[in-house]
Amino acid sequence: MTDDKGADRRNTCSGCEATWTAKLACHCAAANCHRTFSGLALFDLHRSAEGKHGRCLDPAQVLNKAGVAAMEFRDGMWRGPQMTKEQIEKAWGSKEAGQ
Ligand SMILES: [Zn+2]
Ligand SMILES: [Zn+2]
Repeated sequence: MTDDKGADRRNTCSGCEATWTAKLACHCAAANCHRTFSGLALFDLHRSAEGKHGRCLDPAQVLNKAGVAAMEFRDGMWRGPQMTKEQIEKAWGSKEAGQ
């Protein structure tokens, strides 16, 4: 806890009071959203291409390929559900049979 100045680096949003320290976290600065996600993949999922500039979906309503909630709010930000590696692969179809 004594070393470099970067240790306490916080990311902040110019549009709200959110702060986060996780390197990979993504904060959505869209009006009426200002949600923080644990990673870019979840951030992308909550963005919809609908409308002129796209829009934000309610993360609680976003489903993954398996039709279950793709993320949940935990420890201050939206995170993927706690699953085993196997469940994740199944849910995200990363190992689809078909070659
Ligand atoms: Zn914000
Ligand atoms: Zn958003």
